[in-house]
Order: sequence, then structure tokens, then C-alpha cells
Amino acid sequence: MHYDVVVLGGGSAGYVAGSILARNNLKVAVIEKKAFGGVCVNSGCVPSIFLSDISFLFSRLEELGNYKGLNISISKDNFFKKRDEIINYLSDAGRKLIEDAGGDTFIGEGKINGDKEIEVNGEKIGFEKLIIATGSSSVPPQIDGIDYAISEDEAVNLHEIPSSMVVIGGGYAGTEIAQIFARLGSNVTLITRGKILKEITEDARNILLDSFDWDNIQIYENTEIKHIKDEKVITNKGEFKGEIIVYATGRKPNFPYGLELLGVKSFSNGIEVNNNMETDNPRVHAIGDVIDKEKKVAHAAMSEGMIAALDILGIKETIDYNSIPQVIYTDPQIGIVGNISDVSKINKFPITATTRATISGFREGYAKIGIDNSGKIVYGEIVSNIAEELINILSLAIREKMNIKDLIFSSFIHPSLSEAIINCARSFYNLDVDRFKGMKNES
Ligand SMILES: Cc1cc2nc3c(=O)[nH]c(=O)nc-3n(C[C@H](O)[C@H](O)[C@H](O)COP(=O)(O)OP(=O)(O)OC[C@H]3O[C@@H](n4cnc5c(N)ncnc54)[C@H](O)[C@@H]3O)c2cc1C
Repeated sequence: MHYDVVVLGGGSAGYVAGSILARNNLKVAVIEKKAFGGVCVNSGCVPSIFLSDISFLFSRLEELGNYKGLNISISKDNFFKKRDEIINYLSDAGRKLIEDAGGDTFIGEGKINGDKEIEVNGEKIGFEKLIIATGSSSVPPQIDGIDYAISEDEAVNLHEIPSSMVVIGGGYAGTEIAQIFARLGSNVTLITRGKILKEITEDARNILLDSFDWDNIQIYENTEIKHIKDEKVITNKGEFKGEIIVYATGRKPNFPYGLELLGVKSFSNGIEVNNNMETDNPRVHAIGDVIDKEKKVAHAAMSEGMIAALDILGIKETIDYNSIPQVIYTDPQIGIVGNISDVSKINKFPITATTRATISGFREGYAKIGIDNSGKIVYGEIVSNIAEELINILSLAIREKMNIKDLIFSSFIHPSLSEAIINCARSFYNLDVDRFKGMKNES
């Protein structure tokens, strides 16, 4: 069997590349070891956001109902079953989209025999071009007794709510998991070696810390773990019991078997590629979490899949990584885009000063915009329950190198939370009339 292009890995990056190439009438095979959709669908974004939605409803519905004069009560049913159905649907859809576009799919581990051949389930497959899209896996910290613990990927696929949980790691995944299970009823302790979410601003961090306090999450920062013994995590600050112990302490790229035969350059963080996702070997591209880059998120992986496919079709496009937003799916969500070190002036507008927040009862958050000396928008930060949507506006503004004046004279829907962004822009010119003077620095 011979293909124009073989894509190794059917996750976020691989299914996009495979589908585009197949739509353009190339003979394409996508090989997937476990389940199409990869980490995002099977053990990442999809299950964690599903559970985050459930935990939001569970902890906030009553309060939001009360605000509007409603008496709402909610009880738990078998939502884990629904989560599994959604995962299966989306994984199946990932495979079907490739096939619908005209590509072939294989389930099995692909082993590279050289830069012209790959093997799957004992079958040899020839190719003109190879795209490596094998993603990343969680790495357990080196602690005695860590075998007792489960990874972040496994935590979002649990089928029961543990009575207690210890989460090791204070990054995006660790904080999301801690809040989800605390709200679902677990007694949660979050332990981290340094500060939690050390990469975000103090403004955003303080709002989240308040929220975690409200959720009764016990947080231990600057804490060293000595070892784990059965259900106990033993640290320099005491012993913490977790019926389930979760580690969310980092990931490593999945280098496929035989990678060394391709002569591509790789580091511990991934395979080196140029702006067009080309490796050192002209027959090989690499995309997604397996490449050496900073932002290992699904939407970047999907864009890289598109860039690699277009490159193979002879079209050179590039990604502006600086404008790729990131969101922490806590409550409230934190959305960040751009580079804060490029900022010469920064303003903030409270979400609570929008009419929409007053109608809906949203009680915290803000839109923050940073500009450079010329007025160009270079940084955006949103803290809000729909930061996942709002931050995209600022992502576009940064990508299109918009000046702050371009935003001021846009009209966004009224009433909507996105008016916080417009008002933040207007605040650079003292035009943010919805804010009382005393609200200058409030969130
Ligand atoms: C708990 C959690 C929550 C997350 N939440 C978000 C979020 O909300 N938003 C977001 O943008 N990102 C999120 N991410 C990150 C996101 O899941 C990844 O960035 C994304 O999945 C990367 O896509 P990928 O295609 O590069 O790799 P993957 O999704 O890892 O896919 C790679 C695929 O390759 C397969 N594979 C590996 N080796 C071989 C081989 N030799 N042969 C055949 N197949 C192989 C694997 O089985 C896998 O299916 C989250 C991650 C986790 C763990």
C-alpha cells in the first residue's frame, strides 16, 4: 500500500491535517494508536469542560436562580455516563470526518521504518510525505509511592466522586481539576512546589484564590512532597489524605518508535519545526503537542495541522503564536492573549459595570487591555465566566495589529459582557461612561 501522505496520530492536529489533504484529493492515511480525537477529546478538553460545566451548575445555579427570584434545586444523576457518550460521539466524528473527506484511517501503533515507510499492525505502508502528530503524555513526578496516584488525563475520566482528593500541581490542569471535584463534593487539597498559577497576573490570581476559598479547597503552596503512602501524601507541611491522588505536573512529547531513522532534530520539549511545520527532513512535517513550542493547546495544534497540510499543497502560511489565546477553565475563567512585557499602558474595566452582568447576577471579573507606545493592542486579559468567548475578540485585535482607537469606535451588542472590552478600550480616552469614578480599580 502506498500513500501520498501518512499522518501519524489522529488527535486535534492529525485529523485537521488529514482531512484537508484528503479534501484536496491526495491519497491520505491517518494512523491512530488509541482513539481518534486524541487527548483533547478523550482525556483533556472535552471531559474536563463537561465536568466543569456540571460543577458550575451544581455550585452556582441555586445562587444565580435566587438572584432572579427563582427557587432552583439540583441533584446529581449519572452525568459520567453522558460525558462518556459525548467523548465517544466526538471521537467517532473525528475518524468519520477524515473518511468523509476521502482519507483512510487505521487503528494501531505506527512504527517508522525510515522516511519512505511505516508499519502498522504488521502491515507496511509506503508514503511520499509523513506528518508526525503523536501528541504528548503526562509525566508523573519522581516521588516514592507515585504509582498509587493517577494522571490528570485519568482524573477527568473518573466514574465516581471521591470523598477526598489531593491534587499535585498548581498549573492550568491541576487548578481546574481541584475546583471541579471540590464543587462536586470531594474534600480537595491542592499542593504545589511554588505558587499556584504563577504565570498569571496577581489581579487574576487573587480572584481565583477567593473563588477556591469559597469552594473550600485547601491550598498548600511552596510545599515539598516527601513521599506517598497509600492514601496519604506526606509533605514538609504535614500529611494530606486523598482517596484519589492526582498529579498534573507536566507533559512530555510522544516520540514515535523509529523517529531517529528520520534524521529530524528533537529536544526534550519536542521536534524542531520551522514556521511551515517542516522538520529538517524535507519529507517530514510535525504538528501539535509533539513539536518544540510553548503553547501546547488544542487550537494551536489544529492551526498547525492546517499550516502543514497547506505547505504540502504548496501554499506557505504561518501562525502568529503571540495572538493564540489561552484559557483556564476555572470559575471564573481566565483568558490571556499577547505579551504583557510589550505593554506600555494597561487599563482594566470591571465586568460588574456592564448592564449584562447586572441582569444575570455575575459578581466578579474584568476586561484588561494593554497597548504599546503607538497605541497598538498587544495584550488582553479577561476574567469572566465566558472568558473563553471574550478573549477571542482581543486575539483578533492582536493578530490584526489593531490600534486601541479601532476598538473604541466599534459598537458591540448591548447588553452583552463583551461591552466590558469596548469600555476598557474607551477608558484610554476617558469615554468609559458606564463606570462610576470609585470603580477605577475594581474587578
Ligand atoms: C486535562 C487536560 C485538559 C486540557 N484542556 C484543554 C483545553 O481546554 N483547551 C485546549 O486548547 N487544550 C487543552 N488541553 C491540551 C490539548 O488536549 C492538547 O494540546 C491537544 O490534544 C494536542 O493535540 P495533538 O493532536 O497534538 O495531540 P494528541 O491530542 O495527544 O493526539 C495525538 C494522538 O496520537 C496518537 N499516537 C501517539 N503515538 C502514536 C503512534 N506511534 N502511532 C499512532 N498514533 C499515535 C495518540 O494516541 C493520540 O491520539 C488539555 C489537556 C489535558 C491533559
